[in-house]
Amino acid sequence: MTLLPRSLRGRLIVLTVIVEVVMISAILWNSQRLAETHLLQQFELRRAETSRLMRAALAPAMAQHDYAAISEILNDARQLQGMSYLVMFDDEDRRIASASASELPGQSAVEFLSGLPEDSSRMDFHIAMEIEGRHYGELLIGLDLHFLNTARRDILTQNILLALFGILLTTGVLTAIALWLTRHLSALSNASRALAQGERFSPLPSGDNDDIGRVVTAFNAMATALNARMVELEAAELTQRELAERLLYMAESDPLTGLANRARFSAELERALEHVHRGPEYHGALLYFDIDEFKTINDTFGHRAGDNVLLRAANTIGKIVRADEMLARLGGDEFVILAPGADRAGAQALAERIVNAVRSIAFDFSGHQLGLTISLGIALFPEHGDSSENIVSHADAAMYQAKSSGKNCWRIYRPDLDDSEQMLHQLGWNDRIQRALDERRLVLHFQGIHSVRTGTVAHYEALVRMIDPDSPDSLLMPCKFIPAAEKSGRILDIDRWVISDAIRVLAEEPDLPALAINISARSFGEPGLAELIRSKLAAFEVEPQRLIVELTETAALANIHDAETFMDDLHRLGCTVCLDDFGVGFSSFAYLKQLPADVLKIDGMFIRNLADDPSDQVFVRAIVEVARGLGKKTVAEFVGSARTLEILRGLGVDYAQGYYLSHPEAVIQTG
Ligand code: C2E
Ligand code: MG
Ligand code: MG
Repeated sequence: MTLLPRSLRGRLIVLTVIVEVVMISAILWNSQRLAETHLLQQFELRRAETSRLMRAALAPAMAQHDYAAISEILNDARQLQGMSYLVMFDDEDRRIASASASELPGQSAVEFLSGLPEDSSRMDFHIAMEIEGRHYGELLIGLDLHFLNTARRDILTQNILLALFGILLTTGVLTAIALWLTRHLSALSNASRALAQGERFSPLPSGDNDDIGRVVTAFNAMATALNARMVELEAAELTQRELAERLLYMAESDPLTGLANRARFSAELERALEHVHRGPEYHGALLYFDIDEFKTINDTFGHRAGDNVLLRAANTIGKIVRADEMLARLGGDEFVILAPGADRAGAQALAERIVNAVRSIAFDFSGHQLGLTISLGIALFPEHGDSSENIVSHADAAMYQAKSSGKNCWRIYRPDLDDSEQMLHQLGWNDRIQRALDERRLVLHFQGIHSVRTGTVAHYEALVRMIDPDSPDSLLMPCKFIPAAEKSGRILDIDRWVISDAIRVLAEEPDLPALAINISARSFGEPGLAELIRSKLAAFEVEPQRLIVELTETAALANIHDAETFMDDLHRLGCTVCLDDFGVGFSSFAYLKQLPADVLKIDGMFIRNLADDPSDQVFVRAIVEVARGLGKKTVAEFVGSARTLEILRGLGVDYAQGYYLSHPEAVIQTG
């Protein structure tokens, strides 16, 4: 069997040809045998005939000893076809007559027979000359068998030619039939081989609805499924790599501008300061700046315009910064440049170039031509401090000095101005927050958190706003006052107010399933906060499970011990805990074990461009899988389009919040 070809069609052809050859050989052999038998019969007949004729013609002449007549008859008979010789012997064994083309040996029959040359193409036989039982002599005849052999050879040749023709013809026809019958099978085997080698599969034409057609259909289904798995596998391989790269990138970069982030900057600053202790030749500068009136731009022209401003500024400044200096975005509109080795003059020259470069950026906001400016503060090390906190806060203070000098300029840190400037700035906000609390100018707005599956509101998030004392119709957004409140500690008062007001709303709206509130990182460590929540819930007779508390993930990670304790306290009360802005921290996943949150609210930076960014999808999928595995629910914020919602549905996210579904409103629409 090893000599047979490997393919089915090859084996089929070889086997049928073998059978064919055996069959035709058998037929050939048989017809040859029949032809030979027939020839021999003919020959025997002829011999018997000749014997009878010769005896009839010659026996009477022998009886009468008429040797002349005998000689004549023998000569006549010699003329017949196939007669080699004829010799007559009388009853005393004497040769009395003969006819032959050549000389014949011997005078007696015995001598004659022993002297006759051997010839296989001749047959010798004798005829007894007898009349009524009396013996007169013997006639010996040599019959030439040449014609018999020629006939035999001719038949054989013709048979062989016919057989060869038959074999060729049937082999051709059988091959064609085998090829036709096995065409689907060989297409299948080619396709399987291609698939095994990892080539892309395109379905085979399934053809008829016979057995092979059904096999082809089944094969197509299997191969398509296999192909899909292969594509998925490739994609998964790719996305895992992307995920790792993304995690690494995120650990060190600001997602909007691609600049170094606060973590990376802090590490670099620490490294630069390590050298400071080694000697006076080690020094440098920190430039700290933000964009003047950035919040106004954001509020007036929207987040997109705000993002554009940040990107343009980052790009312009990035071109000025040297390779050994580092430009980083700390958050919001705050940037820093770390310039190791720079002295006072160098830092001032750099600051001047940057302020001028930003001033030359022209912006067109919905038809309004606006210029961009920054205020920049410089702190030198080790002159203005040798710890990173000192350097950063002094550069920050210098920036406020620049702002109070009318913005659009830079200032180098001056200790004599510091306290008064910063106090003034903070005092301004302290005072304004206190007044807002006293004058009841804080209000809550409510934004729906929708079920991704049904689209209906599952609960609301309460978001604080401050009514502007100067124009009571306009509201100050939390980004305006929460950062200042967090710096000054006033945030505790705001959070306390939000807790009371939200629980009051829950009591007034019994149909409202639940309300989420935001608690600032500064408040976690406050021992009385959980107790305040408990007493308010009790006083207003609100079920604790209707209150959801959102803590931002970064705040929780920065203060993990307090966050853990606070979350445990909230759980003991029966409240639900949500980690807000989840995914921003590099170690989000690692810390999930420690932070007993019930809900993860996936940060808007993964959702905003979800439809166009496959790596965001990979990230969200990973978060959903981890959340599911740990029995937590997921919320996506910043859902801005139907397409985003559809993708979230596909990824299995539980809830969605965003302008596509609903905006924050002053009143809750229940029932
Ligand atoms: P957050 O808790 O992540 O709240 C979501 C913010 O995103 C809200 O802004 C909301 O209005 C906004 N938002 C929701 N959907 C979309 C969208 O599709 N597109 C865009 N562009 N924005 C969307 P808001 O109200 O300005 O709040 C900003 C942040 O201020 C909050 O982020 C939260 O960290 C803080 N905050 C708000 N209210 C309070 C509060 O009562 N107490 C404390 N401590 N912080 C608060
Ligand atoms: Mg929130
Ligand atoms: Mg958020």
